[in-house]
Amino acid sequence: MSRSARSGRLFVLGLIVVCAGAVPARAWFFPEWKSGIEWPMPPVVDPGTASSAPSDAVVLFDGTDLSAWEGGDKWTIENGYAIDQGNIRTKEEFGDCQLHLEFAAPEEVKGSGQGRGNSGVYLMGRYEVQILDSYDNETYYDGQCGSIYKQHPPLVNACRKPGEWQTYDIIFTAPRFNDDRTVKSPGYVTVLHNGVLIQNHFELLGDTKWDAPPSYSKHPERGPISLQFHGNPVRFRNIWIRDLMPAPAEMPPSPPTPEPAGE
Ligand code: MG
Repeated sequence: MSRSARSGRLFVLGLIVVCAGAVPARAWFFPEWKSGIEWPMPPVVDPGTASSAPSDAVVLFDGTDLSAWEGGDKWTIENGYAIDQGNIRTKEEFGDCQLHLEFAAPEEVKGSGQGRGNSGVYLMGRYEVQILDSYDNETYYDGQCGSIYKQHPPLVNACRKPGEWQTYDIIFTAPRFNDDRTVKSPGYVTVLHNGVLIQNHFELLGDTKWDAPPSYSKHPERGPISLQFHGNPVRFRNIWIRDLMPAPAEMPPSPPTPEPAGE
């Protein structure tokens, strides 16, 4: 072999060694798989801070006014929070959503069981995630703080002491209905209480009444968020919601939504 042929072989061998070092060994034998789906670019969202909403959220209460709520004028607003003094519901309606709210049970403990720090957040005006002062306060488990009322207890009791601020982060998939009024797909609720998972994609069994078992009845694709008044001055602040369901081109008129009637 001539000297030039030998140096040519060495050059090729060197090139292989260099390339082998630059590319993972696996890729030499198994080319990368790609789905081929042309995904749209995820929108950029400013996530906000612990006390402010993400940039794509609808702010329902920023500490200054409750104009986004029917009945909000019944509540007292002071020092950046609002005091529960009557049932209120959002003027805007929502289906699938991510909801954030902060609440505090009265610092002065009065009453017991369901009579202590009771309120509730109603998804679509029908499905209650219970708000209660369940810090060292026994009641029936599927009615304590963080329960899906009369359907499912929270996985754990993550309550803070009376008077301390607490957070709910709720991810809700609304139920769907067929034309014959039967359930096409049930609703699902996930709840984080003070950052702790307490309801994990729970399948809703229907509405959450105090005096009747859960059942579904067909309703529109969207409904209000309601906050319950149960006689206790529960405080609220920093409420926002992200709409996870694009608005249909045309919505039929909504029938009246019932007043919250649970615990
Ligand atoms: Mg309640």
